[in-house]
Amino acid sequence: MNKFEALGLQQTLLDAVADMGFENPSEVQEKAIPILLEDETDLVALAQTGTGKTAAFGFPLIQKLHADSRTTQGLILSPTRELCLQITNELKLYSKYEKNINVVAIYGGASITEQARQIKRGAQIVVATPGRMKDMIGRRLVDISKIDYCILDEADEMLNMGFFEDIKEILSNTPDEKSTWLFSATMPKEVSVIAKKFMHKPQEITVGAKNSGTDTVQHEYYVVSGRDRYPALKRLADANPDIFSVVFCRTKRDTQRVAEKLIEDGYNAGALHGDLSQNQRDLVMSSFRKKQIQMLVATDVAARGIDVDDITHVINYQLPDEIETYNHRSGRTGRAGKSGISMVIVTRSEMRKISAIERKIKRDFISKKIPTGIEICETQLYHLANKIKDTEINTDVENYLPAINDVLEGIDREELIKKIVSVEFTRFSNYYSKSKDLNSSGPDRERGNDRSDRGRNDRGNSSDGSVRYFINVGEKDGYDWMTLKDFLKDKLSLGRDDVFKVDTKDAFSFFNTEAEHTDAILAFFTEYKENGRFINVEVSKSPEGGRGGRNRGRRSYKGGSGGGNSGRGGSSRGRDRKFSKGSASNSGKRRSSSKKKSGFY
Ligand code: ADP
Ligand code: MG
Repeated sequence: MNKFEALGLQQTLLDAVADMGFENPSEVQEKAIPILLEDETDLVALAQTGTGKTAAFGFPLIQKLHADSRTTQGLILSPTRELCLQITNELKLYSKYEKNINVVAIYGGASITEQARQIKRGAQIVVATPGRMKDMIGRRLVDISKIDYCILDEADEMLNMGFFEDIKEILSNTPDEKSTWLFSATMPKEVSVIAKKFMHKPQEITVGAKNSGTDTVQHEYYVVSGRDRYPALKRLADANPDIFSVVFCRTKRDTQRVAEKLIEDGYNAGALHGDLSQNQRDLVMSSFRKKQIQMLVATDVAARGIDVDDITHVINYQLPDEIETYNHRSGRTGRAGKSGISMVIVTRSEMRKISAIERKIKRDFISKKIPTGIEICETQLYHLANKIKDTEINTDVENYLPAINDVLEGIDREELIKKIVSVEFTRFSNYYSKSKDLNSSGPDRERGNDRSDRGRNDRGNSSDGSVRYFINVGEKDGYDWMTLKDFLKDKLSLGRDDVFKVDTKDAFSFFNTEAEHTDAILAFFTEYKENGRFINVEVSKSPEGGRGGRNRGRRSYKGGSGGGNSGRGGSSRGRDRKFSKGSASNSGKRRSSSKKKSGFY
């Protein structure tokens, strides 16, 4: 008997599960499905995004419906159009072997008459946004007076978006005897109010700790002065060549402005906010899903519908007013078993907000430094070398080879490599050579007397004695910062805090240790092979390392449990990012081509 069968699902659903390739139920499914199948009960289920809540209510709902009746029996309320459509699509997949089950989505921004027509044909399940639902009830286009099940999905987000009154009114049109199932990632006061007011003795299940972020997300903050926010954002992007991120701003205006600047500077960026038409938003989202957009700059409201699984970074360009909102933002990454990073750019005066968030989400932040120009150049250089290595040879170049060979005649391999790499590197290094340190100086919150960065020399050694290394494995090889740290401390027989500042890129990574370990580490890795391949560790030329030491005490992530992450799978997304205006002689031309691709609407 498979695990889904053990939960009590009927054969038709098991067949659908098999088709979808679900192997094991998720925790929320394991807990919710048996309860919902067996009892007629109200339920409050708390689980993070990406934990499979749709199936947790969808399977029992489908199994309990009377397919022979065309009456609307289940109502699902969900905060956004995107989520409505997603849920509807999932439910259609789940019910593909059921006879005569109709699921209809109702949401704003589309023809109400068409939606009414679909309802009229008989929809046992209606998936709706509160606004449009209220509207349709008012016009008597939908009848929910006989429903047996009402599901409030993403209840916290619906309340965040101000749907309380709408929900109240919608529920007043439903029968008292129905069961109400409430699903939410978090349990703010407002959600408890709903549970108290509209539910009868709900059973409660919780997956993971209440109100806590997922364990797969590392939280980092970067202190800069207010006017350096934008350059800091650029550096964070430049230091992560494979970034696939959502950048959160507080207002539509800032969202638009930051996206425009990024595009102008040659990044594959796009804006998502409420002033765009639905059609424009769809286009941006579709480019983002296809990874043509690497940096999606969004407002909180507009980002609600985003469920893209492999977002590597969430960047808080500005902190939100509400702590709950931070939780929603960071929950966009670290989904589906992958790890992610939530970065916050803060000014010194906002530091107490970081502490407030730490208390609320029960996770510690790591204080990080905005990468220096040299560090970025180094990262980009290795990235470039790997890109060259992985580039598939285009057979069309064959025709030109004789002529090209003529041009390059007499240059030996060594020199050729230097030249090829310099083509790009000079661009980066020109741009960054005169760049300043963006990290806001002044007392650090943990240690009153932050030493300035000037004490460092340029050989990976720093004033505090720690050493930074380069290692030639990365996410492509299945590592993330947690698993790589585990790997290193196991291989090197080091303690948990001896390896720090682990920073994984696609094909390579960096980490730090105290200088006393350097000889042993270099010796160990001179001959070390894994799966037939030499693993190479070198002392990094970039000085950034030293400063990592100070954070060690604050790391809350034990990293031990991680494992199993398959990494983000060496996707080389055809990205074509430029460093900055005027940073390269040919950037003008290249930039305009990337502009077209960047999909800003
Ligand atoms: P949530 O509503 O909790 O954010 P979803 O219901 O949207 O999560 O599910 C997230 C993703 O996980 C979806 O792509 C879904 O198809 C997939 N999924 C759900 N349950 C399972 C499972 N048991 N095994 C594998 N994938 C699953
Ligand atoms: Mg969901």
